[in-house]
Amino acid sequence: MSTIDGLPPLREVIASHDLRARKALGQNFLLDLNLTAKIARQAGDLSGMDVLEIGPGPGGLTRGLLAEGARRVLAIEKDARCLPALEQIAQAYPGRLEVIQGDALQVDPLAHLSPPIAVCANLPYNVGTELLVRWLTPDDWPPFWQTLTLMFQREVAERIVAQPGNKAYGRLAVLAQWRCEARIVLGLPPSAFTPAPKVASAVVHLRALPEPRFPADPKVLERVVATAFNQRRKMLRAALKGLSPEIESVLERAGIEPTMRAEQVSLERFCALARELA
Ligand code: SAM
Repeated sequence: MSTIDGLPPLREVIASHDLRARKALGQNFLLDLNLTAKIARQAGDLSGMDVLEIGPGPGGLTRGLLAEGARRVLAIEKDARCLPALEQIAQAYPGRLEVIQGDALQVDPLAHLSPPIAVCANLPYNVGTELLVRWLTPDDWPPFWQTLTLMFQREVAERIVAQPGNKAYGRLAVLAQWRCEARIVLGLPPSAFTPAPKVASAVVHLRALPEPRFPADPKVLERVVATAFNQRRKMLRAALKGLSPEIESVLERAGIEPTMRAEQVSLERFCALARELA
């Protein structure tokens, strides 16, 4: 069977390199190259961009990114078994794919990338949220990336785009929406993956805004939001009392009723609260 890029179909790649999926590495592979190209397209025009991909596995999404015109792809993969399959892709796209074997939580990709940079990945579920929080909370803004196009479990994707009043609304929503536009752009059923996971997935697209929507010190905002949602069922005057001995009047000055719960507070009011506490 021929493919869009002349490389073998992914089922063949997996069989010939004996890439049986390992649960501990969060391995649920995408084998349909039309689907991986569609995911790559959600990242926008990649023709002038370097792309950081975490967890390429057998390379389905990597091939999608390259076929869709990414200038260069830097792929960080923990599982050494995937390297020969990725090397075949690098040969088919000379000078456009660099693979680093290692843990994405440990490797610093920046020395290997030139701006403008997009991040696109079908993330391993066990490190996906941690990576997202790191990308959303760099020391300086704007961050090194312009867009993040990321596959998550559907439930995590919904937490990223959630609005106040929704039970999915929490720390992830505030951190993501404070300085990004965030949208769910594609839903995928378990059957899209091999092996099929238990739950549905979704692709989230985040675009970094040049400036935060409302002024606030990032460290103070992170602390306020983490504390508020840590005890999300409590009224804020109780949940936040460790942050100030006068928390009721601080909340009032920020335009927040002290009897409200974190889930009801808008991004704008959280930023006002962070300013009052700074
Ligand atoms: N991109 C491939 C696809 O869409 O078919 C594979 C996605 S699979 C959900 C996640 C991939 O991340 C696996 O290949 C796994 O080995 C890799 N991985 C898991 N933990 C990792 C880590 N800490 N750093 C880098 N890669 C990791």
